[in-house]
Amino acid sequence: MTSQLPPTIITHTGRSVDLPVKRFYAPFEVSAACPDCGRVCVRDLSTNYLGYPVVGEPFDLRLTCFDDEGEETGHEWSVRVRLDMTLTLVEAG
Ligand SMILES: [Zn+2]
Repeated sequence: MTSQLPPTIITHTGRSVDLPVKRFYAPFEVSAACPDCGRVCVRDLSTNYLGYPVVGEPFDLRLTCFDDEGEETGHEWSVRVRLDMTLTLVEAG
């Protein structure tokens, strides 16, 4: 082959996309301070999944406050997030 072939190009369209996945486990941890008591709480999306997420659209992610014994304190709130997606060209190894 020739070296004159055009490069492979990946373009993000910016459009939102529904992910038809009931339980979408994702490699993210969201850590935020509880607005009621100030305790820092973590939601691990690799175990506490997203249901039918939409890529590229902001949504409210629910967080739950737990005490030092792991019991729910009854405090819940949301943070506004957006799930974005990247597609990366990887050279053959
Ligand atoms: Zn709290």
